[in-house]
Amino acid sequence: MNTISHWINGQTVAESDGARFGDVVNPATGVNSGRVALASADRSREAITAAAEAFPAWRDTSLTKRTSIMFAFRELLNARKEELAAIITAEHGKVLSDALGEVSRGLEVVELCCNISYLLKGGHSENASTGIDVHSVRQPVGVSAIISPFNFPAMVPLWFFPVAIATGNTVVLKPSEKDPSTANWLAELWKEAGLPDGVFNVLHGDKEAVDTLLTDPQVDSVSFVGSTPIAKYIYETASAHGKRVQALGGAKNHMLVLPDADLDITADSAVNAGYGAAGERCMAISVVVAVDAIADELVAKIAERTRGLKVGDGTRDSDMGPLITVAHRDKVAGYIDAGVESGAELVLDGRTTSPNADSDAAFLNPTLFDRVTPDMSIYTDEIFGPVLVVVRVPSYEEGLALINANPYGNGTAIFTNDGGAARKFENEVQVGMVGVNVPIPVPVAHFSFGGWKNSLFGDTHAYGAEGVHFFTRGKVITKRWLDPSHGGINLGFPTNS
Ligand code: NAD
Repeated sequence: MNTISHWINGQTVAESDGARFGDVVNPATGVNSGRVALASADRSREAITAAAEAFPAWRDTSLTKRTSIMFAFRELLNARKEELAAIITAEHGKVLSDALGEVSRGLEVVELCCNISYLLKGGHSENASTGIDVHSVRQPVGVSAIISPFNFPAMVPLWFFPVAIATGNTVVLKPSEKDPSTANWLAELWKEAGLPDGVFNVLHGDKEAVDTLLTDPQVDSVSFVGSTPIAKYIYETASAHGKRVQALGGAKNHMLVLPDADLDITADSAVNAGYGAAGERCMAISVVVAVDAIADELVAKIAERTRGLKVGDGTRDSDMGPLITVAHRDKVAGYIDAGVESGAELVLDGRTTSPNADSDAAFLNPTLFDRVTPDMSIYTDEIFGPVLVVVRVPSYEEGLALINANPYGNGTAIFTNDGGAARKFENEVQVGMVGVNVPIPVPVAHFSFGGWKNSLFGDTHAYGAEGVHFFTRGKVITKRWLDPSHGGINLGFPTNS
């Protein structure tokens, strides 16, 4: 039995057979590929303490040294990314090209961090007041807990830990227990790159491990990505325990299609963004908002393209893999049942499948609903599966109002050739990441990733300048070199001259 264990202080820490374990299953084959340790509170504290003890030396390691380790990590990850993609596909199920895509997007953040010295440069004002110079620095926060979801086992942790480590923090990563092997692979890569032991630790587990991270006084910051109810819980609990928190939640991303859009390219984009990774992306398009004038034609084009998708094992010639588990597959199928019962028009029914895979238990085919209304659960809920719904609206105004009334605000897109309409949308839409003719507008690494409303609790987005800000604290130093003119008693509040 392959057991995936914690990585603490630069080595694997195995659990005894009396400990708790979870099953790790390849959803494309149904084969149980191993078991993952689920940490107790004591084990969790051990990982946190390792990070806390490694912090002082890592904080004081020179920028040059930290940068050279980051470069070495970048080179190793880039050289071996296919190996990592295969691990992701074997546990998550997404097709290999998609797994490689997520590694590449994560790699971008590592590349950003190879330039961390520039991002950490403070400011300096000479003679800010007479004889007084002022400068600012940003210093690491301490121990960073990173808690990540199943859907991007590499990319989401990579949004955070390169920034945390490059800025001088130490890390405890708690990956999803559904696809845990990626985290250990990354830990071993760090070791090879020369990262000192204890700077990057992996703690496997569930609520018990997470709750310890949220409450242990040695943890200074918490970065979370996952579903909205858990994100809210993480934000409230960790904040109440005095930590800085960024908790990214779920999504329901709308794509507004105006009558002047190129409908062929728009339909391609809707299919790619709706069904890629079987809809298990936080930036997936799950709602197409079609202006009435083009709705019939657009739905026909989406349906035609969707019928051609190849569903199967991600290691074979497939466009779309399975859902993460059979239980999740059944939950998504339940939404399709509910959509039919609520009167939506089922254009493509994904409940019948014949995937190119050894087991069909976790598979659904792409599903398309038309004439969906905002009261239906297929509209209100984040389904997180290959179910695309079309809501028809009379015009831009109603489409915008629909998007802005939605409680989620992660990503959105407008498809149009009208620059004025696009500019109006950019300005008016209440969503954190906006695409103009770009269906999945995940920001590049030197910008920052984050949604609004129920898609983010806290105020700091991931990576880019906001990521650097999150993992550092500002300090301003005001100084003078004393001479006799500085003497004398004056209890007034210091003013500048
Ligand atoms: P999840 O919320 O179930 O789990 C996320 C993490 O929280 C995991 O590490 C899990 O072990 C832990 N967890 C689960 N239940 C917990 C509990 N009761 N107490 C403490 N910890 C708990 O999410 P998931 O199913 O792994 O991932 C899918 C969700 O993540 C979707 O809602 C998706 O939209 C969201 N997501 C959001 C973004 C974003 O950028 N906003 C990115 C990726 C995924």
